[in-house]
Order: sequence, then C-alpha cells, then structure tokens
Amino acid sequence: MDVAQIYKDANALLEGHFLLSSGNHSQFYLQSAKVLEDPKVAHLLATALGKMIERSGLEIDTICSPALGGVLAGYELARVLDKRFIFAERVNGVMTIRRGFEVREGEKILMCEDIITTGGSALEAASVAQSMGATIVGYAALANRGFCKRMGSELLGKPTCKLPNNVPFFALADFEFDIYEPSSCPLCQTGSVAHKPGSRGN
Ligand code: ZN
Repeated sequence: MDVAQIYKDANALLEGHFLLSSGNHSQFYLQSAKVLEDPKVAHLLATALGKMIERSGLEIDTICSPALGGVLAGYELARVLDKRFIFAERVNGVMTIRRGFEVREGEKILMCEDIITTGGSALEAASVAQSMGATIVGYAALANRGFCKRMGSELLGKPTCKLPNNVPFFALADFEFDIYEPSSCPLCQTGSVAHKPGSRGN
C-alpha cells in the first residue's frame, strides 16, 4: 500500500512552510483528517493496519485513542479488529478517560493515533488507561512521522521518541521530514513566514 500516495491524492501531504507544535519549522505537513474524511479510505487504511497487527499475534481487548486526531483511525481499527473502542480526551489540558468508559484490571489496550510523531499524546492517554488498570500491549498509527521505530521498519528510532521500547509500535508507513529550528530554518532565510496548519505538528 502506497500510503504517501493516498495522502497526496487526498491533498493531505501539504508542502509549504509550517510551524509545528514543538516550535520548529518544516516544509511538509501531514493532515490526516483530510485522508479520513472519506470513510472508504479510512477503512482501507485501517484494514491494512489491522492485518499487520493480526499477523503479529498480539492479543488485544480494546482500542483506545487520544481525542481528537486519533479517534477516527482508532474507531475504524476497532471495527476491523472487532474490538471495543474508547477514547481519552484533554480536559483543561489534562488527559482523562471519562464519558462512562470503564477499564477493567488487566484489560489489554492498544493505543491508536492517526499519526505518531514523538508519541506524546498516545503516551499520556496510555498512562491514564494504566492508572485505571489497563495493560498497554502496543501502539499503532496510520503514519509514523519518523521519530519512533515501528515494527518492520529499517529506520532507527530517534531520541525524541517517547514511546516505550518494550511494546510494539505498528504503522503503515514512515514519513521522514527535515525539521528546522527557526534560527536555522532555510525557508525562513528566503523571507517566508511559517504558519500553523492545524492544532498539532502533524
Ligand atoms: Zn522557517
């Protein structure tokens, strides 16, 4: 599956001069919501991701996603794998699991995001689920923004990756974009100004 082409076809692989949530700049930006606006494409991607997870033999009870970005991907993945789906959300900046969602002791939860960059949000949601008794058995994303090493990839994880090394990370594709500090950004040096395309740097 050519995930990059799917993102390009959906105008979700943006090229320009972007301000990421980290404060750094990049020439490229992945806007997963644009890919997932077509439920057929969302299902296609989730099916491919689901097959990858099934092949690994990983045992899962429940899929959990951090809102908002991860919810569409996680819900489709849960449909494909025939699992329960819950989500975590930020309330006044603090990640929480509410809305009556229950987590039982030892429940095997796979965290699913649309895109994993450093994995920060997924990890925050994971620690909330863990505090409710869950065991986090893996992480998944449609696309890997290139900081974490995923299953089956030759690329090395980078020190900025926050995901733990002892649980598997599944993603359909790696996207490695150069990221610049504003002071040394070649795009800034041409006089262009970085802008923020979405709520987060993915
Ligand atoms: Zn710049």
